[in-house]
Formats: sequence, C-alpha cells, structure tokens
Amino acid sequence: MRAQWIWSDGRLLARQRVSIEGGTISAVAPLEPDEATDHALLLPAFHNAHSHAFQWAMRGATQHLDAGHTEDDFWSWRDKMFAVAGALDLDEAFAVALACYRQMVAHGYASVGEFHYLHRRPDLGWYEPQEALAAVHCEAARAAGLSMVLIPVAYERGGHNRELVGGQRRFDTTDAATYLAYAARLRDQLSGDGVSVALGCHSLRACSRATLQAVAREASLLDLPLHIHACEQRRELRESIEEYGAEPLEVLASVGFLGPHATVVHGTHLAAGDIERLRATRTTVCACPTTERDLGDGFLEAYNLIEAGVAIAIGSDSQTSVSPREEMRLIEFHERLRRERRNALTYPTRALLQPSASLLSAGSRAGAEALGLRSGRIAAGLAADLVALAAPAPLATQEEAQTLLHTWLFCDPAPPFAQVYTRGLPRLLT
Ligand SMILES: [Zn+2]
Repeated sequence: MRAQWIWSDGRLLARQRVSIEGGTISAVAPLEPDEATDHALLLPAFHNAHSHAFQWAMRGATQHLDAGHTEDDFWSWRDKMFAVAGALDLDEAFAVALACYRQMVAHGYASVGEFHYLHRRPDLGWYEPQEALAAVHCEAARAAGLSMVLIPVAYERGGHNRELVGGQRRFDTTDAATYLAYAARLRDQLSGDGVSVALGCHSLRACSRATLQAVAREASLLDLPLHIHACEQRRELRESIEEYGAEPLEVLASVGFLGPHATVVHGTHLAAGDIERLRATRTTVCACPTTERDLGDGFLEAYNLIEAGVAIAIGSDSQTSVSPREEMRLIEFHERLRRERRNALTYPTRALLQPSASLLSAGSRAGAEALGLRSGRIAAGLAADLVALAAPAPLATQEEAQTLLHTWLFCDPAPPFAQVYTRGLPRLLT
C-alpha cells in the first residue's frame, strides 16, 4: 500500500509504502518522489479488548423504566441481561455474534477480546463437546474477518455468600480446578487460524479468593493475558470491603492478579493508591466508556492514569456502540465535561499537545497488547491490521492530514473509511 500519510507511533509520516506479506507488514519505507499513492491516510486498525457478543441481542431493549420501578441502574440492567443469557441457544448465539462482529469490522476493529462467560446449556448441563458455545463465537469472528482472543472467565457464585440465580447459572464454572480444565480444553480445541485463548475471572464478586489466585498463577505460568472486571460500581467496592476489608485492586494485588499481562476492565472507581498499584505492576485498564455511559457507571480518571503512564485500552462491552472512534473520543470528552476545559488529555510539560495521540494509542497499541496480539502499530513484523481514511482531496501538508484525522475522531459526520484491512485482507465492500 502506498499512503500519502501514515500514523506511526504518535506522529504522522508523509508518503510511505507499507509492504504486506501473508497478512503481516514486512516493511515500512518512504515512497519514491514521483510514485503515485493509493490511500490518503492509513491508521493502525483498532482492538476491542472487551466484548460480550450476546449482549448485542438486548442493546435496544433496556432504554426504558419498567412499570413499578422508579429508577434503573447497572443492577437492574443486569437482571435483564441474565434473562437474555438464560435463553440463547447455539444458533442464536452464532447469529448474534456474527451480526455484532461484522459491525465491529465495519467500524474499524481488527480483533475482539470476547470475555466469555456463557458456558453451559440453557438446561445448565455442559455442552457436548464442552467448547460448543465458545466455538460458535470463534466461527463468527472468522466469518466476519476479526481476530479473536477468547477469554473464558471463571464464574462460580452470585457474590460473597450468594448463590447463582436464574440465567446466571449458565455461567457456572464451579471451582478453580473445573475452570482451568475447561480453559485448557478451549485452548486445545479452538486455538489457531486467527483465534487465541486467554484466561480471566469475571469479577471479585463472582470468584473466591482461591480461584483468583489460581487463575492468576496459571496465566503467569502459561504467559497468557489475564482479564477481570473491577471497580465498575460503587456497590462492588462496598462488597469488597465487607468480604476482604479492602477495595478491589488491593485484593487483586494481594493475590498476584495484577501485572504486565493483566487487564482491569472499567477501573472507574479507583481508591487511593490504585493508580500507583496499576503503574507499578504495569497493569492495563480497559475503558468501556459507551457502556459506562449507558449504565450510569461513572467517569474514568483518564487524565491521571495517562499522566502516571498506565496503559488504557478500549472495549465495546455491552455493545451499546461498536465504534472504536466513539470509545476513544468519549475518554477525552468525559474529561472535558468533568474538568470544564478543552483538549483535556494533554500534557504541555511533556510536549503532548493533542489528545488524539493518547486516544489512538488506547484504541490500537494498548488494545493489542492487552490481548497478547502482535498488532496495534504500523511496523514491520506486526499484523497488517489497518484502516484507510478517505480524503476529498490530496493531503498536501501535515496540517491537512492532522485535520482529517481529528475531524474523523471528534466530529460528525465523520470522513468515511476507504477500507478496513484485517491481517492484510480488505473487509469492506466497496
Ligand atoms: Zn463486561
């Protein structure tokens, strides 16, 4: 590919050839002075570090109060989600995942981290073979052209001293040994051809301390990404204090869960000392701002996290939006509203004057790293996961290229994609 501009590690480079062999970038080098170009602006494609595909089936069905309820929040939304989860069969799960994943690709995602907790049949037995439901998600991702990082998660209780209820019982992995054997089977049966399998625990409320510790140890031994929901809701913090006498990230640190392979999904309500905990352990935070907005969760402390050097990735989570652009820009827009200023994610003393640098890095590089993928940048040796922005006229100067990029990121209607490439293949019908 020959581009007028490419986005490379936080800056725009003019007139570059991106050579691709077998789905991988083999070289990036300047074009000859008189060579024609075939793309205006190439960006690394984006990585969706946190998805629950089945929630695509319910996203428009929860935007009202039920009669008899005077308010709605995460917990009442969750009851509806359990009902949807309880009923979905294999064919429906495939159809829902395929529709969802196709939209992810159309909006510029090259991969999905499927945080998978729908493990059992509707009648609560295990599927035969056990990986059947996970397999239809992998099949859907392949059909859509997405790389899949399947993250089967341990889920064994409704909370401290609380049983699983209703549709939630399909998530049951019983104990650490049962979960780890199941995850090993998924790795053996489903890995390859664009699919890899990581590890995770659903949350502190869904797993015992012993399971958190065992899963973290296994991820470290096998060098696998390790994901968990944490610090999304204030009630979750209270429950952690009731059970452990400590807030969630302090508990996760104490069982060895935090580290360079670990991703904390949400991280919305951080306690004193949490940012330092994340920084010191090089743990990633996966922000899901369209979902956090939809569920009324709260605001991410993005400015402070970035200032401390904590990597932020993005995730579509409940599928309210499957646009990486919307996730990225909300991280900035929420800080603007919170702090009543413009261009909030900037650090003049470090010469970081454009929020887009941190936002694009969150969408591409940090997401790929959180999922253990060799992708996320336009560089030799990495997957050829790219999005090409269309321009109405040649981009003669860096200012023109930057304006196109920022118009795409922050404004509506956005300039369209000319193409989305995952592993070197064009995925948009043109
Ligand atoms: Zn989630």
